[in-house]
Amino acid sequence: MNTVAGVAVDTRHWIGGERVASAQTFPDRSPIDGTLLAEVARGGADEAHAAVVAARDAFPAWAATGRDERARILHAVADGVDKRLEELAIVETTDNGALLRSHRRGVMPRVAHNFRFFADWLTGLRHDDFDTRGHTNHVSWDPAGPCVLITPWNAPLMLATWKVAPALAAGNTVVLKPAEWSPLTASLLADIAAEAGLPPGVLNVVQGYGAEAGAALVGHPDVRRISFTGSVPTARRIAAAAAANLVPTSFELGGKSPLLVFADADLDLAVDLAVEQYDNAGQVCLSGTRLLVDSAVADEFTARFVARVHALRQGDPRDEDTDIGPNIHADHLARVDGFVRRALASGARAAVGGGPNTDLGGLYYRPTLLTGLPPGAEALTEEIFGPVLTLQTFGTEQEAVALANGTRFGLAAVVVTGDPSRAARVSARLVAGTVWVNCFFVRDLRAPFGGSRQSGVGREGGTWSFDFYCDVKNTVTAP
Ligand code: NAD
Repeated sequence: MNTVAGVAVDTRHWIGGERVASAQTFPDRSPIDGTLLAEVARGGADEAHAAVVAARDAFPAWAATGRDERARILHAVADGVDKRLEELAIVETTDNGALLRSHRRGVMPRVAHNFRFFADWLTGLRHDDFDTRGHTNHVSWDPAGPCVLITPWNAPLMLATWKVAPALAAGNTVVLKPAEWSPLTASLLADIAAEAGLPPGVLNVVQGYGAEAGAALVGHPDVRRISFTGSVPTARRIAAAAAANLVPTSFELGGKSPLLVFADADLDLAVDLAVEQYDNAGQVCLSGTRLLVDSAVADEFTARFVARVHALRQGDPRDEDTDIGPNIHADHLARVDGFVRRALASGARAAVGGGPNTDLGGLYYRPTLLTGLPPGAEALTEEIFGPVLTLQTFGTEQEAVALANGTRFGLAAVVVTGDPSRAARVSARLVAGTVWVNCFFVRDLRAPFGGSRQSGVGREGGTWSFDFYCDVKNTVTAP
């Protein structure tokens, strides 16, 4: 048992309702100051197999458990999250470096909401029967079986429960593999679920590296669904493994989303929204990292934006006054910095930032805005996943849309304009799973969420989640 920020965290696997160790461990360090937080069980093929077998064995009883009872237990899990909210928030911040104030007031309440929302959606899930020449069609959502859920480090518990909650609500059993850079809150979730009365084997957590535990899980023949949030290269590997067993997959992947500022926009709002894209030190898949600004207002916008960025407070994410914390890992920071170094070497300019925060050291990177990049530059096309935005200008609405759609991604877009007809026209032409007009990050769990092009396959949220985690069945009965 480890103690992290005063909270006891068991970093062994959770398989079949028991804690299971591995012969090997891997170190988990805090991005805040590099402290070694824990040695975590390093699972491989044996642990993956044991977890899938536990999920497979627990499936029939959980699938047969009535909807109301499943919903009751998931509400109890949500209550458990609420009860331990402060502990979850501080452990998550210590583990992945995102702001404690966001974890306290936004993320962890949303984690509880994920369980309540899907529990309630389940009990309301129905499709009116319909008639075909006197025959009745009855549509039902049957649970599919053991699901493998693989999640990233940037919003660990939020993204894990966004999958765990609908999968369990639908009557499936689950093996969750959290990311190796932020494995801790998944382990706390296992404790909370057990305390809430979730039967052994219904939720299993396997810790470990992607190439070991992750690869073994997604290649297991008894798995019926794979849901993955992470990067495009990993999605390709998982898709290949899933293809071998013909297992349906759901992918939420990277982005390079545009934020379009038209000349008729409220510039204060545009600057606010643009600064918000540095949230979580830029490690948010949805971030509108490409600022596309009408050349008529570009100078004014840039001046106001740079002034606002200078006023941001960077520092310890546990401090309530901090606006930007550290990035997750030295390897990741080196990748982020590599994009900036190469951009600057090829003639781009940093209107603000442009390198590590040397006052703070460690993994803190100055919020950066790159300008003067030539079309096709890698900083304009590749996901950087750090506090680095780019700025390009446009002359016409058509040019703006072409720039916005000019990457292999299609996750989200932000449109800032004072003209509702322009908003409607532009939104209709953008390739994106979500378009926000004059706002950002307003999320309703009933809405579909996902990406187009290489930003994803499928949608999550509301009925879309149930459709994925279920074998949807139509029963046709003669008169
Ligand atoms: P990643 O792809 O490196 O890792 C994600 C998870 O996959 C980890 O748990 C990892 O251990 C596991 N993994 C790695 N190789 C595997 C394999 N061969 N088989 C099975 N599992 C394997 O991604 P990351 O660096 O952790 O996360 C950042 C990426 O996630 C970014 O691209 C970001 O945009 C994306 N993301 C997308 C969304 C979304 O909803 N669209 C949300 C958050 C993050």
